[in-house]
Amino acid sequence: MRSSYNEAMQTHVVLDYPVHVDSSEGLIASLDKGLQAGRHQHVVTLNPEMLMFGEQDKTFGALLKSADLVLPDGAGIVWALKRRGIHLKRVPGIEFSQALLAKAAREGLPVALLGAQPDVNEAAVKNLKQTYPGLTIVYAHHGFFASAEERAQIAQACADARPNYVFVALGVPHQERWIQEFKAIFQEPTVFVGVGGSFDIWSGLKQRAHPLFLKWHLEWLYRITSEPFRIKRVYKTLPTFALKVLFQDSRSASS
Ligand code: UDP
Repeated sequence: MRSSYNEAMQTHVVLDYPVHVDSSEGLIASLDKGLQAGRHQHVVTLNPEMLMFGEQDKTFGALLKSADLVLPDGAGIVWALKRRGIHLKRVPGIEFSQALLAKAAREGLPVALLGAQPDVNEAAVKNLKQTYPGLTIVYAHHGFFASAEERAQIAQACADARPNYVFVALGVPHQERWIQEFKAIFQEPTVFVGVGGSFDIWSGLKQRAHPLFLKWHLEWLYRITSEPFRIKRVYKTLPTFALKVLFQDSRSASS
């Protein structure tokens, strides 16, 4: 299926949710086209947990379905597509965001970093400036707001700084909702990416999984073993997701 968002990009569907498929370069080029056309674009890094939350909360589900770019971040998404003969590599949101940061640094495009604990946000800003010389971070703020008013004021301050890329690390579903709610107040064409725990990694305060875990699509296993509070979330969503995928596949095989 071709995406209506970008004719050159393939779109596959997992349980009615779109997943856009292209090389990293192709995905970035399509965002570039959108920026040049003056559009705001929301990038979602889809995993089964988000998808199942979208099934429970239809407003959130609609938000995921209307995103401009949906990346196959979760191993479960890759698995669901593989069952239908579609073989693709995971596109981890953190790696895709790093590619965007490198591009922003090269081209002098301003970025903003919103979210995480204050010390984490500060350390991430410092480290990213070192990793990507020339990176212009025009706005950075932690993600713990005292009130709805403060949340809106910070969004306005972020918009006033006129970034072209905004990385939002508030966790799911807050980051996606923040993007949906505030993107219209940004005056420059902007790419918004919900990046979950990426600032924690960029700050150096947490480590990503060993490369072997990444190679075998087992980053989720590393995360639940190193942060046991995640086990409950995974237990609650992964079996239902897998059953739904298997059920849908068996129905389409018999029809
Ligand atoms: N966070 C935040 N404000 C909040 C709740 C969370 O800034 O009110 C941050 C948190 O400090 C962490 C990130 O959001 O840096 C969420 O990371 P997590 O790995 O839990 O994200 P997810 O699993 O949702 O991708």
